[in-house]
Amino acid sequence: MPKQKITIIGAGLSGSLLAIYLAKRGIAADVYESRGDMRTAEMSAGRSINLALSNRGIAALKEVGLDEYMLAEAVPMHGRMIHATGGQTKLAPYSGRKDEYINSVSRSGLNVALMNEAEKYDGVKFFFNEKCVDFDCQSGEAKFASGLIAKGDTVIATDGAGSAVRDAMMHGGISRFNFSQTWLEHGYKELHIPPAANGDFQMEKNALHIWARGAFMMIALPNFDGSFTCTLFLAHKGENSFEEIVSRRLTQINADHKNNFHLSALSAKSAANSVLDFFQTNFPDSIPLMPTLVEDFFTNPTGNLGTIKCFPWNVGGKALLLGDSAHAIVPFYGQGMNASFEDCRILNQLIEQHGADWKTVFDEFTASRKPNADAIAQMAEENFFEMRDAVADPIFVRKRELETKLEHEFPDYFSKYSMVTFREDLPYSVAKRKGNAQDKLLMEICAKVDDVSEIDLNEVVAEVRNA
Ligand SMILES: Cc1cc2nc3c(=O)[nH]c(=O)nc-3n(C[C@H](O)[C@H](O)[C@H](O)COP(=O)(O)OP(=O)(O)OC[C@H]3O[C@@H](n4cnc5c(N)ncnc54)[C@H](O)[C@@H]3O)c2cc1C
Repeated sequence: MPKQKITIIGAGLSGSLLAIYLAKRGIAADVYESRGDMRTAEMSAGRSINLALSNRGIAALKEVGLDEYMLAEAVPMHGRMIHATGGQTKLAPYSGRKDEYINSVSRSGLNVALMNEAEKYDGVKFFFNEKCVDFDCQSGEAKFASGLIAKGDTVIATDGAGSAVRDAMMHGGISRFNFSQTWLEHGYKELHIPPAANGDFQMEKNALHIWARGAFMMIALPNFDGSFTCTLFLAHKGENSFEEIVSRRLTQINADHKNNFHLSALSAKSAANSVLDFFQTNFPDSIPLMPTLVEDFFTNPTGNLGTIKCFPWNVGGKALLLGDSAHAIVPFYGQGMNASFEDCRILNQLIEQHGADWKTVFDEFTASRKPNADAIAQMAEENFFEMRDAVADPIFVRKRELETKLEHEFPDYFSKYSMVTFREDLPYSVAKRKGNAQDKLLMEICAKVDDVSEIDLNEVVAEVRNA
């Protein structure tokens, strides 16, 4: 392969991993990142935000030699710990096999590890505070807010869901560029459960905790330091929404104002009441664990959740979209980063086959990844309903119990969740097709019985194999 230099836009999770993959092939990479270097600024101040890392992501980390390092700092999560409103908890394992579990990792810890590893190679250079503002699809030049213009042998855009390169492709760079962005009516807010006074975890550490309440839910993932990061998924507007909680607070503040009460003390109390009332009704067992709940609720931003689809992903051999810039998905399958890491792994295989013939590499990448990105996008949207509604549905609970038993008894049986999460050898589109057929069958079987012990496992597995 002739000597190559690639311009990477975005030093997030996939951009940093990609730089390592390229460097290992002797391809130089200049990585431009709009934010400052998180290793010097944000790290010490910010609270831990975590992600579920599973087999597809681990497979990529393994190829660049970082899997063991990251897993040593991860907290294994063997199942969902379901919290009823009354405070009772029940663990629903992710798999019937002991070695199949997901891992809670620190987002910034992982990003830093990837950047540090990438920088060990002479060919990799990071440029921080360089925001890409345009990409010229004719010349292949990336333009930055600073006035800088970068042009390598090609550009790979890993600049996330709001990709500037994708915008340039859409607005004139490529004719008939397909783009869709679908927002959920739900947003999310991160909250915090600190470690106990003695440093221990305040809840079962090896689980993803979930408070499923029909129209909304909260989840909590463990951090290595004994804390948990909670994420509250709630509608933006309407009944039981972020707006409702905030407006209840404002109504109370206005009433305090009219009555000329001592504003600061009462307003703080009103703010506390609107959040605490909501949590008392819906997640009462979490309140004693969250001493900064009210402050976090009003200080932390409310994020949006959506799915982005587009096509094509490349401008000939001049540029490629990879990771969230090509396919941002909602987080309910815990697969956005895992899918982006899988992108890097597949791209690396194609470079192995076609060298620096970037047009062929990018065309084949798009052809192979687009159906799989669409498949995981749809499954992620559907899993929202599974997580918030179905975990409380008795037929679904029996189905999960049956699947766990089948996985325990039959090495070749994999639930849809396991195919998506633990089978890096299986494309998402295949996991979706097989998984949907299996789900339909098992739900029918579980609807007919009151107890899973009534079911003949051999008969079920034979039916699954024939399906
Ligand atoms: C609430 C939530 C929970 C999630 N949980 C999980 C999970 O458990 N498991 C999982 O696998 N995935 C999860 N995800 C998805 C995951 O975060 C993303 O899929 C992943 O971060 C995508 O990586 P990326 O590198 O493509 O994009 P990003 O991580 O968004 O990185 C993009 C980078 O580009 C930079 N950038 C942006 N614009 C520019 C520009 N114009 N110029 C230069 N640089 C730019 C950004 O600053 C950033 O560093 C979750 C997402 C959310 C929102």
